[in-house]
Amino acid sequence: MSDVSVLAIVSEIYPLIKTGGLADVAGALPAALAGEGIEVATLVPGYPAVMAQIEYAETAIDAKPLYGAPARVLRGTAAGLDLFVLDAPHLYDRPGNPYLQADGRDFPDNPFRFAALCQTGRELGFGAAPGFLPDIVHAHDWQAGLAAAYLHYDGRERPGTVATIHNLAFQGKYPAELLGALGLPPQAFSLEGVEYYGTIGFLKAALALSDRITTVSPTYAAEIRTPEHGMGLDGLLRTRAEYVTGILNGIDDEVWDPSSDPLITEPYDVETLARRPANKAALQDKFGLDPDPGALLLGVVSRLSWQKGLDLLLANLDLLERLGVQLAVLGSGEPELVRQLLEAAEARPGRVGAVIGYDEAIAHRIQAGADAIVIPSRFEPCGLTQLCALRYGALPIVARVGGLADTIIDANEMALASGIGTGLQFSPPTADMLGATLERAARLWAEPEIWDELVENGMMTDVSWRRPAALYAKLFRDLVRER
Ligand code: ADP
Repeated sequence: MSDVSVLAIVSEIYPLIKTGGLADVAGALPAALAGEGIEVATLVPGYPAVMAQIEYAETAIDAKPLYGAPARVLRGTAAGLDLFVLDAPHLYDRPGNPYLQADGRDFPDNPFRFAALCQTGRELGFGAAPGFLPDIVHAHDWQAGLAAAYLHYDGRERPGTVATIHNLAFQGKYPAELLGALGLPPQAFSLEGVEYYGTIGFLKAALALSDRITTVSPTYAAEIRTPEHGMGLDGLLRTRAEYVTGILNGIDDEVWDPSSDPLITEPYDVETLARRPANKAALQDKFGLDPDPGALLLGVVSRLSWQKGLDLLLANLDLLERLGVQLAVLGSGEPELVRQLLEAAEARPGRVGAVIGYDEAIAHRIQAGADAIVIPSRFEPCGLTQLCALRYGALPIVARVGGLADTIIDANEMALASGIGTGLQFSPPTADMLGATLERAARLWAEPEIWDELVENGMMTDVSWRRPAALYAKLFRDLVRER
């Protein structure tokens, strides 16, 4: 029996539409929370992919004008998710990336596209859909940020509000002149409200006005209160520190299960690790790498952006060559990084392979086939690829930041002596420190017994949503009780 009802608001949700970890979390949390007696319905934009997959849809709120054309709200299900869908073709019926036009720039009407989503969140929050009155509105990232403002300035008795930060780097900052067009009252443009260095800040509004703020790891929750990682919001986050908590993400352990994964060559688990090398051979083949079972094979699955620190890895290509280490990279993003990766693959045939693009199947094959996964992020709110790596028996080699610091146990001398290591960490995130750690990895690789123990430790780590879901459930219940 569920005793708490939550309206989640999010701009992407797995498996319907995904650009990153945000979608994974939005897609997995409802089922995990259901196990805790918390009922979640999720409001998402009616992108083509969502409209195509929604089933049993009924009109929950009749069509009315919203930013220039009629929009209605549907309620239905897709992939087991209970969804409210804002059906507004003039805002969302666009192919491809949910935020970017074909030339890679933001859609110019993004403030209205996501304000419309948040205004719909306000309606649903006050019970506009028959049979649905949430206790809590849970807004994810800047796209859902204004929901807290609309609920706050409405004046009616409102549900509790929780804002979750998946990445502080994306803030949704728009000109102050839009205040009226965004449906915000003049008094909202204040230090306590949506005003952000003279602009309107969507994420800032959420952080200022939500009852609770969560982010996706305890270390990131602490880091974002510092000027170094706070990206202009550290002052506000310090002021609101007593309301900020970090709850790690999990991964969907059915989607990510090496013993039953239909996308990999040869299923295996911790008891049948001898089957895993077939996946390595297939990966070497796919990436044009030498078919050498003894070469340490590093994998990368990543957005290609400054945050992810792949330039630090590219700076170590000569070292990898000297160590006899292979590299397989799957990624998409910034053109300059794409160019450098393709150039590296071209210059080092058999040693470096790159696939540019977004491809779920190849992501799974890298996790199953690589010996180690490298994540040299400059900052990382939680990170999901290291959790997948633990589950798939690929040793995570990570920068000690954010969620990477919280999820991997560095195989230092003491950890080795106690048999508890699950990966390698380095700090600070520089090319030299990564290089030293890659050398450390190569030394461990030469000692298969130790390497295998680290891999087995990782595979036995609980990376599911069970614990995180219990923490969210407690947070939601405490908030409901308090109100
Ligand atoms: P972020 O959300 O910052 O991109 P996370 O590690 O939190 O990073 O989540 C990334 C998610 O996206 C993971 O599920 C990862 O497997 C997936 N992913 C990233 N890049 C690609 C890609 N090029 N192809 C397939 N999956 C990818």
